[in-house]
Amino acid sequence: MRHLLLATALLAVTTAAGAQDTAMNTLAERYVRLALSLGQHDADYVDAYYGPEPWRTEALAEKLSLADIQSRADALVRELQMARPPESADEMVRLRHTYLTTQLRSLRARASMVGGARMTFDEESRALYDAVAPMHTEAELQALLASLEAALPGQGSLIDRLEAFRTRFVIPRDRLDATFQAAITGCRERTQQYVQLPGNESFTVEYVTGKSWSGYNWYQGNYRSLIQVNTDLPIYVDRAIDLACHEGYPGHHAYNVLIEKNLVRDRGWWEYSVVPLFSPQALIMEGTANYGIEVAFPKADRLEFERRVIFPAAGLNPADVTPYYEVMDLVARLSYAGNEAARRYLNGEINASQAADWLAKYGLYSRPRAEQRVKFIDQYRSYVINYNLGKDMVAAHVETLAGADWTPARRWQQFLRLISSPRLPSGLTTPNSTTPNSQRVP
Ligand SMILES: [Zn+2]
Repeated sequence: MRHLLLATALLAVTTAAGAQDTAMNTLAERYVRLALSLGQHDADYVDAYYGPEPWRTEALAEKLSLADIQSRADALVRELQMARPPESADEMVRLRHTYLTTQLRSLRARASMVGGARMTFDEESRALYDAVAPMHTEAELQALLASLEAALPGQGSLIDRLEAFRTRFVIPRDRLDATFQAAITGCRERTQQYVQLPGNESFTVEYVTGKSWSGYNWYQGNYRSLIQVNTDLPIYVDRAIDLACHEGYPGHHAYNVLIEKNLVRDRGWWEYSVVPLFSPQALIMEGTANYGIEVAFPKADRLEFERRVIFPAAGLNPADVTPYYEVMDLVARLSYAGNEAARRYLNGEINASQAADWLAKYGLYSRPRAEQRVKFIDQYRSYVINYNLGKDMVAAHVETLAGADWTPARRWQQFLRLISSPRLPSGLTTPNSTTPNSQRVP
């Protein structure tokens, strides 16, 4: 009798969980369909989709207006609020609920933007990406430039000296693929030491021109990606490992493979089969892809691999690895100058040409790169924060959870947990708290 009672009680619990799952799956399907509908109005919105094909064809046929998409998103958010799981529910179930709600609010904001609504840079990034980038003053950026002045002595302006220095480190076009493939092998080997990826995962690399970005991962489902590398401008040697990690392992390709495996296939959570580009998930994707570079290649390992493998593959002198990275580490600290240019430009304070000037002055972009970057800002707008702020937020989260005395293995463990779960920016842990703080605005 006791056994029977226990069995009945267990059945009740299972049924309740099952019913909640079914209810969430229905809400999730409606979210996917809305994302596909918004993709009809915004060609860049759906970055990847590998869910049921009828959902896509039905969204195409239905041709929802932007107003309908917004009102359906509002209704769905209200229904989700009524379906909130209890605090005692499994963490993944709670993350799933928060994910859907946050992604939907962002979808609604993007639909209103496509319809003509205008926001400031910070309003837009909060609405779309669940985060706001810190401000950096011209004085702060000037101080960083001063440290570069000291590292690159000589005649002429700092940007000209940097250009002259970097020209020696371009990967010749006929060595590009071999160098990039060597970097991919290095990234894959290091990633596979810590995570078992599905045996049939793979990607293809293509070299393209005429794009506003330098590299792109197009995830196609079934554990496959197409990675495109833009060769409009010369590619410097540091980009080999950066791009291989960012687009491949443990960046976008590995992220999408693990999400497909852990969430879509194992749990049947179909909302992850659509990747909306302008959404909070993008900050996690770009942040983990950028932070993943140093997770895969801690500094000493990277310098050794550059000397032994990458510089020889590119036909460059391995003796130049240390001086090159001393300068590049300083240049990397200027990345927030790009956010400031975008903030001023999108807020209407400066025009496109002045934005390029700002990128040249404070970010040390050469003129062609500055112009390419302004085109990127035109196309993707406040998305720019996802790279540097995303990296910093992800680093803080992973390193806080891995503990003050983290080891590479513990850092990998926390990193992999993040790229296998539905966590969004406001759910990341900060250094001052060991629990996520959804109220936090970075
Ligand atoms: Zn990326």
